[in-house]
Amino acid sequence: MIFTQGFIVVEDKNLKIAILSGKGGTGKTLVAVNLASVSDRSMYVDCDVEEPNGHLFFKPQNIEKELVHVKIPVIDKDLCSGCRKCVDFCKFNALAFIEDKPYIFENICHSCGGCTLVCPEKAIKEKDVSIGEVRRGISENVSVHSGIMNTGIASGVPIIKRLLEKKNVDKGIPVFIDCPPGNSCIVMESIQDADYCILVAEPTIFGAHNLALVYDLVKLFKKPHGVVLNKNLKGDNPIEKFCLEKNIPILIDIPFDQELGELNSNAKIAVRENSKYKKMFAALLERLMKEVQT
Ligand code: SF4
Ligand code: SF4
Repeated sequence: MIFTQGFIVVEDKNLKIAILSGKGGTGKTLVAVNLASVSDRSMYVDCDVEEPNGHLFFKPQNIEKELVHVKIPVIDKDLCSGCRKCVDFCKFNALAFIEDKPYIFENICHSCGGCTLVCPEKAIKEKDVSIGEVRRGISENVSVHSGIMNTGIASGVPIIKRLLEKKNVDKGIPVFIDCPPGNSCIVMESIQDADYCILVAEPTIFGAHNLALVYDLVKLFKKPHGVVLNKNLKGDNPIEKFCLEKNIPILIDIPFDQELGELNSNAKIAVRENSKYKKMFAALLERLMKEVQT
């Protein structure tokens, strides 16, 4: 491990670390923004597209915006013969037959393109609809990328795909992916290319239940993983028991700490505010590197 002016130089320049938790508010963004900030150079990607908040911490400069579009079908009713093949095909129930003609519910269409392909009359074309945007900027040593989904959109997957598209991922620096909470398809999309997954958990029975959700997911994807135990108090807790049973390493135990909580709730990056937190997250990054190499 190499240190330059208190920052850690991550030797594996193409490393991608995903940070997950079974529910929001567990400390996922706290871990992601501080790990990205303690690395001498890094990329932070906010894939929590329904409620991105990493940019509130980083306050990035020189922001560039890019709209994200999806294809939504449009039916030419004059060409439609009323065969219903499109309605039968749509597994998302985004098509219904009303007064002998198919009708599209755009808000629940997943843009799979299937109805266009199955229509024998070629009555279905596609139009571009904006579903959100990607913002890219710089905050000191961190390249900050955030996805923001418009209200009422069925799925943020296309925005996450755009964020993590190879050509949009910075080369030669480690990437920290702040995943959406839970274990749904947008989380699966976020961890696809990750080399290692950090599971953030709180030391309660509810926290253990949420940890089990993301643990099952990373096992399914065969991703190496470890746990960050956040807001820990002294004494036995269900997370340690769970990790012991499943043989999961606990990478760091972050104690319940009022100062850290206040910094975090004021959208301040702890490692930039206080050297003790810089040491703490540097130790986490160091441990992480060892885990990745084993
Ligand atoms: S594009 Fe796919 S999800 Fe959308 S209406 Fe057609 S079949 Fe359904
Ligand atoms: S598949 Fe084509 S022709 Fe058949 S109902 Fe749908 S739009 Fe009409």
